[in-house]
Amino acid sequence: MKEKLYKVLPHIFQNSLITLYNYKSNRIRYRGNYKHYRTLFNENKNLSLVELKKLQQEKYGSFISFAIKNSTYFNERLSLDPQFKEIKNISKLPILSKENIRTNLDTIYTIPKTEAVVSKTGGTTGKSLEVYFTHEDFQERFAMLDNFRSNFGYELGKRTAWFSGKNILTNRDIKSNRFWKKDYLYNVKYYSTFHIKKDYLPYYIKDLIKFQPEYLVGFPSNILEIAKYGLNNDLAFPKGVVKAIFPTAESISPMNKGLIESYFHCGVYDQYASSEGAPFIIECANKKLHLELQSGVFEVLDSNNKPTNSGKLVVTSFTTHGTPLIRYDIGDSIELSSETCSCGNNNPLVKEILGRIDDYVFSPETGKINLGNVSNTLKDTQGIVKFQATQNELDKIIIKLIIDDENFNEKSKKRFIDNWTDRVGKKMQLEFEYVSSIPVEKSGKFRLVKNNIKHLIDN
Ligand SMILES: [Zn+2]
Repeated sequence: MKEKLYKVLPHIFQNSLITLYNYKSNRIRYRGNYKHYRTLFNENKNLSLVELKKLQQEKYGSFISFAIKNSTYFNERLSLDPQFKEIKNISKLPILSKENIRTNLDTIYTIPKTEAVVSKTGGTTGKSLEVYFTHEDFQERFAMLDNFRSNFGYELGKRTAWFSGKNILTNRDIKSNRFWKKDYLYNVKYYSTFHIKKDYLPYYIKDLIKFQPEYLVGFPSNILEIAKYGLNNDLAFPKGVVKAIFPTAESISPMNKGLIESYFHCGVYDQYASSEGAPFIIECANKKLHLELQSGVFEVLDSNNKPTNSGKLVVTSFTTHGTPLIRYDIGDSIELSSETCSCGNNNPLVKEILGRIDDYVFSPETGKINLGNVSNTLKDTQGIVKFQATQNELDKIIIKLIIDDENFNEKSKKRFIDNWTDRVGKKMQLEFEYVSSIPVEKSGKFRLVKNNIKHLIDN
């Protein structure tokens, strides 16, 4: 979207522009093989575990061959020996770290940027990454995502409230307490996730009650703030309106999930799939998390890279032909479960997805900024290898940066600062420290945000 033009347009035209923007991106998503995959996944819904594993093996074999043929990086590192096309031998292949990907992207890509759907975000690990998807992979991913949501009645066009990381408001909107934009074509209302602040929350709730969305999608930390405010201030949300809530990008604790469910009177159903293109883990109507074996291979490994029940998640994703992810250490941990589920989906179960800690920075001007929005400050920047935001004072954030001198420049710095200002407002003091490394926690986990003033923030 042409941001400068967008900002000066009146509200009604901004709505039209958002509609047009979505129309364009939806055209890629829902075209081509999207329908084919919807039908296929629907047909495969009740496959037995044996059938699912057979399908997974077939997809794995052809994916590995594809990567060796089309990606210079994998061509140099993997061999065409038939044993490597068997999942049972996967541990013989090297593990790919985020840093491996970042520094070798040019040789990993199998397609030029012009033919790709570009995904630009570093997830919640503070590292920037730009991956390319083929159109077909992108369509397959959306088919899988929509199939999951359709288990709860959702289809594109249903009345939906969306909490995404896009900065959609102007000062005029804020002055008139209007924290949303509407896409009339697809019946989606986008609520700003940059203004989740006590003074503004009553307007969000009032508008949500008026809009009567059947589905809520987006950052769960923001939906949680709304639910908490509603519960604490007796602003009851009507029953029987919302059918399901689908969190994206962040994990949510069972307690917070419960709060959201009790406020909106419906279930919250989670799914896991990163912007780099990880295979899917989806929650079913029985509230169990299933590994989708049709979407990739999930390995759970201990610190010596030996298979275990609870440990780091290493993925091979079949929908990453543009930027193949083979044994990719995605930076999250999961715990497997030996139970089975009666929902009809015979994919194995996950007990818990660990490691994506709920955290935020706080701005007195704009409220809580969640991890998803913090990691998106990397959008359209270059040469920032990693960063960490620490908050010890209400009006100041210290940002430690590891930069790559060749690609980092003034323009990139300005963009990074602008992205921050969009989220925390102009009054926040931003202090940058250029460092050569950022230590991880005792647990071994990297934290993108360290908020040391939570006791000062009124919940
Ligand atoms: Zn189930």
